Amino acid sequence: MRIQKHIVVGAGLAGCLLAWRLEQAGQLVTLIGSTTLPNASQVAGGIINPVTGRWMTKSWNFDLLISQAAATYRELEQQFDVELYHPVPLIRYCRNSTDVKRMGRRMRNPRYANVLGDPIPEGDGPDSFEDTHGSFHIKQAAYVHLPLLLQTLREHFIQAGIFRDETFRHADLARHDSQWSYHDLQADHIIFSEGVGMQANPWFNWLPLTPAKGETLILECPTLDLPRAIYHHRKWLLPYGDHTFRLGATFDSDDASPEPTEAGARELLDAARSFIAPLHALTVKQHYAGLRPSTKDIRPFIGDHPSEAGLHIFNGLGSKGASLAPELIRQFLAHLLGGETLDPEIDIARFLDTITQPPNTDATH
Ligand SMILES: Cc1cc2nc3c(=O)[nH]c(=O)nc-3n(C[C@H](O)[C@H](O)[C@H](O)COP(=O)(O)OP(=O)(O)OC[C@H]3O[C@@H](n4cnc5c(N)ncnc54)[C@H](O)[C@@H]3O)c2cc1C
Repeated sequence: MRIQKHIVVGAGLAGCLLAWRLEQAGQLVTLIGSTTLPNASQVAGGIINPVTGRWMTKSWNFDLLISQAAATYRELEQQFDVELYHPVPLIRYCRNSTDVKRMGRRMRNPRYANVLGDPIPEGDGPDSFEDTHGSFHIKQAAYVHLPLLLQTLREHFIQAGIFRDETFRHADLARHDSQWSYHDLQADHIIFSEGVGMQANPWFNWLPLTPAKGETLILECPTLDLPRAIYHHRKWLLPYGDHTFRLGATFDSDDASPEPTEAGARELLDAARSFIAPLHALTVKQHYAGLRPSTKDIRPFIGDHPSEAGLHIFNGLGSKGASLAPELIRQFLAHLLGGETLDPEIDIARFLDTITQPPNTDATH
């Protein structure tokens, strides 16, 4: 494989994993990412849940994604001696009789056999929870400690001298023959993984990003003792085992600001109080917010700029970066380094015939 020079822009989950895989493939890489700009990965619960949403639908391509995700996080754990990947049971509560019927239908569907476990009759779960309609087990769930993953990889890149903690200035990127130059760097490929920062990217801001704000809380409750699991009851509750819990998440497509809000905290606490018995007093220890890089068609934005050779995007991981990133990075690098064709479902080429104006090429100097 030819050794080429790459600049990865954005040091969230996508950019950090990409840079690590490029390094492993023997490529030359520089990661440019600002740790002060909004960063969804830093505030995410990192939950991997194969059956989500009101309709209890199995996540897109889950069977393919989960094996690569588990293998990737395990590989990182081994290389860096950290604990990142935590497979845990996930218990989802039914909120009404419609949920009970829906769950029954899903359980009879063979496609769900490897992700749905047994139903749990009402009253058999932890006493601390409201439980009128019973619950059920979701298998193959996990959470990934994303802040630790970011910290670990960034430290590794700093030691290797290939990380720059700065804001990338698109106007300073210039083409010289078949290469790109950025300040003192020359590169064959620039891969943009800027999360919602993509909206300021003159080469890719024509893609239909639909950012969705999310907020989570870290709660403390000395009296709440729960078996190790993720509990989904309107919102999800993730016990860390030391009487602290992460509660999430809100979903708001109208608020484009990355700051935590009082309304977000209230929504989360109201939900928690509706399912946790009132004798348990909940104290808010921290409050996080971020913007998910969600997309109009709920599929990632991956691929090559249609006219500027060497410019690429890996973005649009939406609400499911923890499960999507590892396998999609494998596919993207097989394309970038091995010339393989991208799956049309993830390839940004799918938008080319939907845009009325050609993507901006004036930005290239
Ligand atoms: C509240 C909340 C809860 C979530 N919970 C989950 C969950 O439980 N499970 C799950 O799988 N996903 C979850 N998500 C979604 C998850 O966070 C995303 O799918 C994933 O983290 C996206 O990673 P990314 O690297 O693409 O984007 P980001 O993490 O946003 O990273 C993009 C990076 O690019 C940098 N950047 C942007 N522009 C520039 C520039 N010009 N120069 C330099 N750097 C730049 C930013 O600073 C940022 O660090 C959640 C998201 C939120 C907001």
